[in-house]
This record gives sequence, C-alpha cells and structure tokens, in this order.
Amino acid sequence: MKIRNPFEDIEEPPQIDALAIAAHPDDVEQTCGGTLIRLAEMGYKTGVIDLTAGDMGSRGTHEDRLAESANAAGHLMLTFRGNMRFPDARLENTLAGKLSLAGEIRRLRPRLVILPYWEARHPDHYRCSEIAYEACFMAGLRKLDHYTEPHRPRKVIYSSSYANINPAIVVDVTRQFERRMESLLAYKSQYGASANGSDLFPEEKEIRERLEMTARFYGNLIGVKYGEPYAVKEPVAIDDVMDLGPKSF
Ligand SMILES: [Zn+2]
Repeated sequence: MKIRNPFEDIEEPPQIDALAIAAHPDDVEQTCGGTLIRLAEMGYKTGVIDLTAGDMGSRGTHEDRLAESANAAGHLMLTFRGNMRFPDARLENTLAGKLSLAGEIRRLRPRLVILPYWEARHPDHYRCSEIAYEACFMAGLRKLDHYTEPHRPRKVIYSSSYANINPAIVVDVTRQFERRMESLLAYKSQYGASANGSDLFPEEKEIRERLEMTARFYGNLIGVKYGEPYAVKEPVAIDDVMDLGPKSF
C-alpha cells in the first residue's frame, strides 16, 4: 500500500466507513487495530491517518517508519492509510494543521472516527485527540473551502488502551488479536531486537506480553479473551435492552 502524502498526491482517496486518526505510526496497532480488522472482516472500508511519521524516534528513520506503516496497513486490512507529516514529539494544534486534516476528512467521508483518549502521558497523544476532534468539526463547515463538500463524521469514539479508565464500550477482538500483533511487529525498526536503544523500547517478547495483558484485562470485563476498550462522550443508546451485554452474573 502507498502511504498517501496529502501535500504531494493529487489522486482522490477512496471513500471509507471508519477512520482512525493517531499521532504516530504504530499507535493504532496497539490501541484500536483489532476493531479495524473486525470492521474490515464485516465488509466495511477502513482507513488510518497518522499525524506524524516518527521523525524524532530514536530508532530508524521516518522513511523506515512510513514503509513499515504500509506493511502494517496490509495486516490491518486497511483500504487507506495517510500520513500528515506533522512534526513528531512536538505536535501543535494549529489552524493550518486542522485545515489540512479537515480536507482529508472531507475527501474520505468516514461515518465513524476513532481518536486517542483525550488524556495521555505522551503530549502528542492528547494533542492528536484535540486536533482531530476539532478537524472533524471543521470538516462539516460548508464554507471551509470551495474544493470539497462538507462532511462531519456521525460518531467519534476514543481508544483508551493507554489510559486507566472505565471504558463505556469494549470490542471483542479475540479472533483479530494475532493479526493485530503481526501488524505491530511489522515495525521492525521499533520492535526488532537491537542493541541500539534497547533500554528505551520493549523487545518483541515484552511488547507481546504487555499487549496480551492489556487486551486480556479488557476482554475479561466482557467475558471474552481479548478486548479493546473505548470511551465515548455521549451515553450509549441501545434499541433492545433485552440484548444488553455482557451478562451480570
Ligand atoms: Zn504514539
């Protein structure tokens, strides 16, 4: 898959159903990748926009990260992946950045958007949440530009695997978990065993254990093996309360 560069590519991106927006390549692979795979298996078209290309990372170059994110996109069964090339590790909420992102949202026209949870240890993660939320709002403004039709996503949910919260939604990703793990291990410059910077990045065994424990913890909350947690800002509506899960006992 070719990683779209919105400042160079002229071809129109495809229309998609669900879009995850994340700060760094390899974020969605650790947070909402199982849900994206599950949606693709159900026949929905899915996409990811990473805001930065990891140019401040201590391992590998940003070209490595982009090539690895293209490989990971295959494992995640994505229809589209783009990278905004915003500055890594010093992400700022600027009007120019939001306008560029809003333009991408108007072209892709997703109904569902998955953002990072609004509180995080890494400033890029919470700033990404803010930038992307505001870009989703701006994308719905008719007079934003003369080139693209307005579009505001129907629903925003927040991927909260990094934050210690009580999630409103847990998606069962038991069958998708191994494929999600493969997508993360596609980032060989980050997770391959290497002496260089090895005390900064968990090696494959450790990252596997950490992600398994997190997914197992959230899966356990809904009575399945592996789960991905989400927060929402609105209450969850349900048509048939008789079907409400998980079971209480
Ligand atoms: Zn990140």
